[in-house]
Amino acid sequence: MLEQSKFRDRRYADVVLKEIERLSSGEDIRIVHVCGTHEHTITHNGIRTILPDHIDLVAGPGCPVCVCAAEDIDKAIELARRDHIITTFGDMIRVPATDSTLAKERTAGADIRVVYGPNDAVEIARKNPDRETIFVGVGFETTAPTMGVEILKGPPDNFSILTSLKLIPPAMHLLVNLEGFDVDGFITPGHVSTIIGTEVYQNIAHDYSVPCVAAGFEPLDVLESIRMILLQIQEGRAESENEYSRVVRPEGNPAARKILDEAFKIDDAPWRGLGEIEDSGYFLRDEFSEHDTREQYDFPEMESVDILPGCLCHKVILGMANPTDCSLFGNRCTPDDPYGPCMVGHEGTCRIRAEGMDLEQ
Ligand code: SF4
Repeated sequence: MLEQSKFRDRRYADVVLKEIERLSSGEDIRIVHVCGTHEHTITHNGIRTILPDHIDLVAGPGCPVCVCAAEDIDKAIELARRDHIITTFGDMIRVPATDSTLAKERTAGADIRVVYGPNDAVEIARKNPDRETIFVGVGFETTAPTMGVEILKGPPDNFSILTSLKLIPPAMHLLVNLEGFDVDGFITPGHVSTIIGTEVYQNIAHDYSVPCVAAGFEPLDVLESIRMILLQIQEGRAESENEYSRVVRPEGNPAARKILDEAFKIDDAPWRGLGEIEDSGYFLRDEFSEHDTREQYDFPEMESVDILPGCLCHKVILGMANPTDCSLFGNRCTPDDPYGPCMVGHEGTCRIRAEGMDLEQ
């Protein structure tokens, strides 16, 4: 309790804010984070409202549900219609695919079950040996080890994973190479960095001269990471630093990284609305193909649609548009009735903004 209150103390915040003002010296600066939980902290604590106007704090692709390609959900829907058991995380069932959602399929009679993790899905497979059980595995480096563990343990024959697992550093590479979108600093994601560490961002920092700072999730963590980025800029440095050292180690979590190495290979992967990003996805290694949904089932030719008419999610995911730039925000598209993927989950930029609008005024 004491520890948490320390990171919410207004007096500390005032000191850090004064330093931010001093270090930023009036120049326009864009700082990008790539984490839905950071966006939640920023929006729900009104952090944008207390920063100097010339600091643009932008949400990048940090929501795993939002970046799950429509074709992956279309495949899950296709398998649900074949009377297999589909299991996945709660947020996933409301994400719009090309012409349906898993929730709509469930209403129509499909066997779609929300689980807390892949271990629950394996348990369902064990209890239903006569039926195929598919786990729709969505997530970043943080979630992937939980799936890797189940695969390495040897699940039952009737269990497979439809992986939609993404790596964050390739998305950061994409952002720094976007035309007309300057990134002056990255707040790197706390949860992901717990697994992969902070050393992995050094090449982004050095190659593109963009300071990177891993941050925790309290308001003062975010402010302090901004101060650290500005200090690097002022001193002419670009390095990967760690504000969240009470949790994140430079090398990450070796045990979790070993699981990732043993269970997965890395290959190009489709991100919703962004197309394929090179070496940005975890896929099961060939020796586990009997548990790889993509290898075990034939799918018809699909013409999947990532971005529905009028939706700006492809720009919101990149930080190139604000949720409020979308004409559907708050009317056709709401947390209760989402039209685009960014309005569905608790890490979606549009949903966070919709639920925190009052604090942003
Ligand atoms: S408000 Fe809805 S439709 Fe518009 S960008 Fe956000 S999620 Fe997409």
